Parts: sequence; structure tokens; C-alpha cells
Amino acid sequence: MSMPSTANLNLNIVALCRKGCLKEALHILLTTHNPTVNPSTYLQLLQTCISKKALSEGKRIHSHISERVFESLSHKLLQDTLIRMYYHCGNLVHAREMFDQMIERDVLSWNAIIAAYRRHGCPHESLALFHQMQATGVQPDQFTFSSILQACAKIRDLKHGICIHQSIIEAGFLSDYVVANALVDMYAKCGSIQKARDMFDKMPHRDVFSWTAMVSGYAQSGVPDEALRLFEEMPQRNVVTWNALIAGYVQNGFVEKALETFKQMKLMHVEPDTTTFVSVLPACAKIGALEQGRDIHQNIIERGFPLDVAVASALVDMYAKCGSIHKARELFDKMPQRDVVSWTTMIAGYAQNGYCKDALKLFEQMKHSGTHPNYVTFTCILLACSHAGLVDEGCKHFNGMSDSYYIMPTSDHYVCMVDLLGRAGYVEETLNFIIKMPIKPVAVVWTCLLGACRSHKNIELGVFIASLLFEMNPKNAAPYVLLGNMYAEIGDWGEVQMVRRLMKDRGIKKIPGCSWIQGPKMVHAFCVGDRLHPQTREIIAKLEELSWEIKAAGYSPDSRTVLNDLEEEEKELLLCHHSEKMAIAFGLLNTTPGTTIRVVKNLRICVDCHTATKFISKVVAREIVVRDANRFHHFKNGQCSCRDYW
Ligand code: ZN
Ligand code: ZN
Repeated sequence: MSMPSTANLNLNIVALCRKGCLKEALHILLTTHNPTVNPSTYLQLLQTCISKKALSEGKRIHSHISERVFESLSHKLLQDTLIRMYYHCGNLVHAREMFDQMIERDVLSWNAIIAAYRRHGCPHESLALFHQMQATGVQPDQFTFSSILQACAKIRDLKHGICIHQSIIEAGFLSDYVVANALVDMYAKCGSIQKARDMFDKMPHRDVFSWTAMVSGYAQSGVPDEALRLFEEMPQRNVVTWNALIAGYVQNGFVEKALETFKQMKLMHVEPDTTTFVSVLPACAKIGALEQGRDIHQNIIERGFPLDVAVASALVDMYAKCGSIHKARELFDKMPQRDVVSWTTMIAGYAQNGYCKDALKLFEQMKHSGTHPNYVTFTCILLACSHAGLVDEGCKHFNGMSDSYYIMPTSDHYVCMVDLLGRAGYVEETLNFIIKMPIKPVAVVWTCLLGACRSHKNIELGVFIASLLFEMNPKNAAPYVLLGNMYAEIGDWGEVQMVRRLMKDRGIKKIPGCSWIQGPKMVHAFCVGDRLHPQTREIIAKLEELSWEIKAAGYSPDSRTVLNDLEEEEKELLLCHHSEKMAIAFGLLNTTPGTTIRVVKNLRICVDCHTATKFISKVVAREIVVRDANRFHHFKNGQCSCRDYW
């Protein structure tokens, strides 16, 4: 057999790569005895691995490369590409190891690793690397700045963003339009809308990207009408700007507006693209609009859109957040490619729905597949452990984050750990854990501990933490409510009155409880005690009827959580009109027997509603799914999936 000439060998490999036949190309490479392969051929091979997210092939090419010697420029280029290959395949630790082994690192190598962390959902690490880069004396370029501004935008870190703005001015990159766009976007996302507008007005050239950043900035900033006006002014409106408007609304919680905009867009015959679907699906997820979500899914299929990683992940998220966890898994299993976001979405779905063992099992599979977790994945895993009361397992993963994956725990992870330890009753240990935290504990950390003090009746510590929280953020209602409920539970009505008076004097208002339920044509919203719904009369009658039925089945109202000393009967009435109960009654009135009722609530479900819903699920023989601010509750035949641990 004749040996292929070097030129032919390289040509063959490149041709196969261009046709997407990676396995065949690799076969030639590995079976040719002592081949002479050009650096550009290796680059083509790695590029193909990137587009196919083919990690195991990428690793074999890496070992092939490392057995050879290249002149320094090619060597450097190959190393940068290997870093990119690893992170595109979700393997961040390998990318980092490559980076750490590099003897010479220029701005390109730093850009590669900074972007790797940002895209992998680890913006904090990107920022840390950026500071390291500056410390080593390598000058950032426009791509470094744009990347790092995106990292700031992602975590809404305005302070950092302003510092970087200053560095940009000093380095003379302000006129670069990539950088200017990233600045507008950063200011808009961090809520500094005026500053974003200033930057935008000063830009010599505006393209659709800058307009988009501005529109979505306004949509997120709580001035959605301004967004609509800055939208109408646009010289060019296209699918990109519609998408920005929708995404902006969703991110700031204007969910109904987002769904409305999506409808309008269709009415105006603007063809949606995959980004549209990725932007609008979270709106359905947020309010549990399963019907709309299914419609959109149908839409995607009818239009023949490929289920790429982003769209499929958004669908998995929507189904999971609407409580259809099995449908979510079905879709997840069908995905031809998965990235860190898709794995994390599915794990989050399991964790929120209370399938904690499944979440942990999938986490092991994810690691086994070669995709590395990011900080969101760890948040979900700690959440799963917390929901299931798995203290040891939680601690193991918490320590594993930094030890095995170089991810430094952030406030989110500390909150989860405090929740995990506190719920399990380790109140004193939790306090010690907080004291030893290397970062300053945010208010939520203390609020979590206060919650634990309440459930484990540690009044003394509870009072101390509440006073701490009052100082940190005097306008936050949560510690007042927790403290008040704590006193109410031990029947100390004098103290309850004190807390109420404090709240009144300081002008603090509780966030009203709201619940959403999917009706036959639209989503219906209910707020505590509201009488605005056209079916209010029937709903109240239904609630009364249910109240008799569940009392006969053994339910007694638990009015400890009502923050005042009304007569028992009045308290009962107040409880009866909690938004989730109204939504459930609405559901029972408007759906056929046997249909599952799905409700979404903005706050945590209260003890009484939880108990009542268990009884209701039994007396009406319905499955009722309630998603509260913290997790899912699947009520069936008098039981809840959370086993009363929430
Ligand atoms: Zn309630
Ligand atoms: Zn429950």
C-alpha cells in the first residue's frame, strides 16, 4: 500500500472536516504512521470539534498535538484554540489547566479564558481573571473590555462596571463601537438607565445592537412605556429589536407585557426567530402558563425550527417550571447536544419540583459526560440538598466547588448553605458558619437564619438577628413578618402588636401575596383578599363549600401565621382568602373533574394554605400543583411531595 503524501494527508483531513466528517478525519490522523500534520490542519480539526462540541475527539487531537513540537507562534495559536475547544465542549477545568500551563500569555490567551468563564456562566471568575491580567501587566484590548462588561452586566455589578468604564477611558477605547455598545448594555442592565442613555446619545454610530441595548434597558428598568416610545423612534425595527423588548420585559417581571408583545409581533407579521422563542418562553415559565408554553412549542415545531441547545433548554425550563417535570425530562433526553445550561436547567427543574434524588443523580451524569458545572449548577445542587435535608451531601458539594472546579462560592451558595443547615435544625452551627464566611453576609443570609430560628423556636437568637436586619435594610418587610409570626406562634400578642406598630411607624408594607392560574383562554391573577375578579362571588361560595368539606375530613385552620390578634373567626376568614386558595377555587370551578390544577405564587405558601390544599386534593380527588417562591408542591390524595419540609 502506498503511503499518502504529506500534502494529500493534510488536504484529505481538511476536506473531511469541512464536510463535518470529524470521525473519519480523526481516523486518518490516528491510523497514519508518523504523519506530518500542518498546524493549520490541527486548527481545522479543533474548529470542527468546537462546532460539534465533540469533547472526546478534541481530547485525542490534544494528545496528538502534545506529542509534537511546533514553532512558537503556531504553538501559541494551537494552545489558544485548545482552550476554546475545551470551554466550548463545556470542559472548563481543562481549559483552565491549559491556560495555567502556558508559559507566555498574551491578550488573546487572557481573552480566551475570560470569555470561557463568562460563557460558562461564571462571571465572577471572569472578573477575578481580569484583575489578574491587569496585575501581570498585559494590556486589555477592546474584546477584553467588552467581555468583562458583559460579565458585570450579567451579575448587575454596577460598581465594577464603573471602574472598568474608567479603565476604558484611560486606555483610549471609548470610541470603539464594540466597547461603547457593551457600556450601554452594562449600564442598562445594571439599572443605571440615565447613564446608559448618556452613553447612547454620545455614540457617533448607532447600530441595531445599541438600539437593542437601550430598548431592553428601558424595558427592564421599570419604565416600560419609555421602552415602547424608544422602540417607536427606532430607524429600523426588526425581529432583533422585538426580541430585545420581549426579553427586557421578562427580565424585569413584566410578564404579561412580554406575552402581549409576542402576540403583537405575530399580528404585525414579523417572523419570530429562535431568539424570540428563547426570550418569550421564560415568560410562560415565570407565571406557569403551561397552555401558552405548549402553543409556543407547537409553533416551533410547525415552523420547522431545529431544536437547538438554546431553544430546547428554554422548553425544558418552561415545562419544568410549569410543573410538567416528566415532559421536561422527555425533551431533555431527546436533545442531540447539551451544554452546561441545558444540564443545569434540568437539574434546577428536579430540585424545584422536589425530585432531589433525581437532581443529584443527573448531576453525577453531567460530570460523567465531561460537561463541567458552573456556579448556577452548584446553586441548584445545594438547593436540592436543602429541600431534601441532605446536610452531609450538601457540605460535600459545597467544598467540591472550589476544590475540584475552581469555582469560588458566591452569596447565592452561602444562602443555600445557611438554608440547608438552618432548616435541618443546626441553628448555632449556622450562626458559626455565617461568622466564618470569607465574604460579607448579605441580608438574605441573615433572613434565612431568622427563618430557621422561627421554625426551631429559637426566639432569643431570632430577636437578635431581626434587629440586625432592621439596621441593614430598614425598609425590608421580611424580618418584621418573620419576627411577628414568631411571636404569634407562641401567643405573645403584645409583642406582635409591637412589631405591627414598628412596621406602621416606619411605613413598611408587606408584599401582597399573588397567585396565577391558567384559565381556558388566559392566565388569571389573584391577590390576597381581592374582589376584582369577575367570578369573585362564585369563588367565595366555592371556598365556603370547600371549607365545610375539608373540616369534615379533619382539617382545622392554622391561624398562627396571621399577623394580628383578631378574633379566631375573622382570622379564619382572612386565611380563607389567601391568593392561592382563591386560585385553586377558580381552578375547580373552571376545569373538568380530574384535570390537574396548577397555581403559581409569588411568596412562600403559608402553613395553613399548605394544610388546606392537602385536604382539598383529597376531597375533590384532584392533583394540585403549587409553585411558590421557593419550590414546587405536588398535592395528591391528601399528601404533598415536599413531605411538609419546605
Ligand atoms: Zn396562605
Ligand atoms: Zn408541600
